[in-house]
Amino acid sequence: MSTALMNNYARFPVEFERGEGATLWDADGNAYLDFLAGISVCNTGHCHPHVVAAIERQARALMHVSNLYYNRPMVALAERLAARSLGGRVYFANSGAEANEAALKLVRKARPRGEIVVLHGGFHGRTYGALSATFQESKQAPFAPLVPGFVPVPRAPAALDAAVHEGTAAVLLEPIQGETGVTLLPDELLQAARAACDRTGAALVFDEVQTGMGRTGTLWAYEALGVRPDAITVAKALGGGLPIGALITGERLADVLAPGDHGSTFAGGPVIAAAAHAALDVLDDPELLARVRELGTRLQEALRDLPGVVAVRGRGLMVAADVDRSAPDVVRRALLEQRLVINATGPQTLRFLPPLIIDETHVDDAVGRLAPLLA
Ligand code: PLP
Repeated sequence: MSTALMNNYARFPVEFERGEGATLWDADGNAYLDFLAGISVCNTGHCHPHVVAAIERQARALMHVSNLYYNRPMVALAERLAARSLGGRVYFANSGAEANEAALKLVRKARPRGEIVVLHGGFHGRTYGALSATFQESKQAPFAPLVPGFVPVPRAPAALDAAVHEGTAAVLLEPIQGETGVTLLPDELLQAARAACDRTGAALVFDEVQTGMGRTGTLWAYEALGVRPDAITVAKALGGGLPIGALITGERLADVLAPGDHGSTFAGGPVIAAAAHAALDVLDDPELLARVRELGTRLQEALRDLPGVVAVRGRGLMVAADVDRSAPDVVRRALLEQRLVINATGPQTLRFLPPLIIDETHVDDAVGRLAPLLA
């Protein structure tokens, strides 16, 4: 649609103009049902009035001061995030990749020159450190040489255990691998990661960029897994639609970074912090989270009943369906013929990440729109 934009995205020929809840409208006024939420960003739904009001209010008071100074929304957000997760300290960033970069620097500083163990099938972002942690040939190869010191291992407890030793700085993993097809990691693998880190003093870091902010039916995915990490990275839905990332540590890693070690001009700005408070007000609600779990079950069951669906998996409203045909074709037809927004994480895998404020009618509507494409 424009030759001014770099050619690094395969965009669909649709221009969105407006959004409300789970509905998007294109430039011609056509309404779409959004079951992707900007890739798990708009968990509160589009333009949630509480988020919009917080942004408007803060934008009138103060937009930016840099990290040479404090601002109230940032401080309060750090206190809230730490209290609601691992109890340590918070570093703010502007994206998921940047939150992971901060985690990588922190764990390296905690154990100088230490290796970082990552899993096959993981995705941690596109910047050099995050990309080096993302063991995928197609994403890494054109950009070699990468950052050294990353050790990719298969998703098997024995392999992970064997890779972690006294020279390991951290094990970094997504509790549910999102970009590579909503792959749930077995409990034994997460327990092996915890045990290996306890044995060697390495840090266990969960990338909750996609799984966080209520997506899986608890505020953070780790809460339902019985394994407590030493740090988590979060982003995507944290800002209610605006860009923010955060690294949240437990007590053990809270004091590793010192003045001058890391930083970012925009990070923790007052407008984005105010938006994040509003997003947390909406999403950190036991009733909403219970609904996410219920609706996730409903979505999975309905998908399983569709012809052409081979397998369904997920947790909460992070769901994938393997299909017996080209998933990218289904995604394209869903968008252009059914006005249903979903995406594909692989040649035969559809992914569903709806806003978390939906109800049963949205689930049934989405599955209804998909059905003719899979018949
Ligand atoms: N980590 C995970 C698990 C992700 O899913 C993503 C993005 O999809 C990232 C990191 C990178 O986040 P961002 O695109 O905000 O840099």
